[in-house]
Amino acid sequence: MLRLAIQKSGRLNEDSLKLIKECGISFTQSDGKLKSEACNFPIELLYLRDDDIPQYVADGTADAGIVGENVLVEKDKPVFIADRLGFAKCRLSLAVPKEFEYKGLHNLQNLKIATSYPKILGDYLAKNGIKAQIHQISGSVEIAPSIGLANAICDIVSSGSTLLSNGLKEVETVFHSEAVLIRNPSLAENKLHILEQLLFRIGAVKKAQNYKYILMNVPNEAIERVSRILPVLKSPTIMPLALEGWSSLHTVIKEDEFWEIIEELRRAGAEGILVLAIEKMIV
Ligand code: ATP
Ligand code: ZN
Repeated sequence: MLRLAIQKSGRLNEDSLKLIKECGISFTQSDGKLKSEACNFPIELLYLRDDDIPQYVADGTADAGIVGENVLVEKDKPVFIADRLGFAKCRLSLAVPKEFEYKGLHNLQNLKIATSYPKILGDYLAKNGIKAQIHQISGSVEIAPSIGLANAICDIVSSGSTLLSNGLKEVETVFHSEAVLIRNPSLAENKLHILEQLLFRIGAVKKAQNYKYILMNVPNEAIERVSRILPVLKSPTIMPLALEGWSSLHTVIKEDEFWEIIEELRRAGAEGILVLAIEKMIV
């Protein structure tokens, strides 16, 4: 049994559960409990505050966990990153009052900066040769300048609207974060094996998200031309249409390549192009 810690509630909770579900792992009803055991995979979920997850994974209370990289780096616990999960993307930024004439980091020399991330900020300032007073607060960091607690802040920014409504402007990006799957460095062989199975499934889910299934109708004489445009996995599947002289061509392409080649496909003679989501992909 692998014990996986996830956030009990908050921004990571929903996407973590969604990923686990997409891996085909199901749970019998779990109503606000602290843990729940899967019915078709040897895994148990522990629901915790995100800040506690690195410690629990480090000391082995949990075998693995899903946490924001920002929290992981801030807590600085001895755990391994097993995979990057691509959700909960956000950045940690420095912000100053709108009227602050900010020209560069040197403007922050000897000032007071409020943050919930003293380690990440401290490392960043040290790397850039800036000495500042770091004032650690645990929440509502953005109001610190207006109440005279600090000259600047370092906090998570997503849209920037919270900053704006507090009269602040973003001036430097300190850290980019996404959700990561962490694990205890000395897992027993049987647990490592379960984790590998889980990572395999996560890989298939992530790959499927990056690829699309594409099908189109192509006049037979254009099949070669169209096939050459497609960056296919192996070679496209071609099936005859009932309509004489036409075929249906199916293949899998990367989503980010799709928009670049769509016009080319049309010029080469493809029609009725359909693009479908793929649920899982094992290659
Ligand atoms: P907890 O109650 O578990 O301590 P929290 O209030 O500390 O939760 P959340 O606000 O739920 O934390 O954020 C959890 C994580 O989600 C953050 O550590 C960060 O990695 C990520 N995150 C935060 N804000 C955003 C955002 N605006 N967009 C995307 N991801 C974000
Ligand atoms: Zn937290």
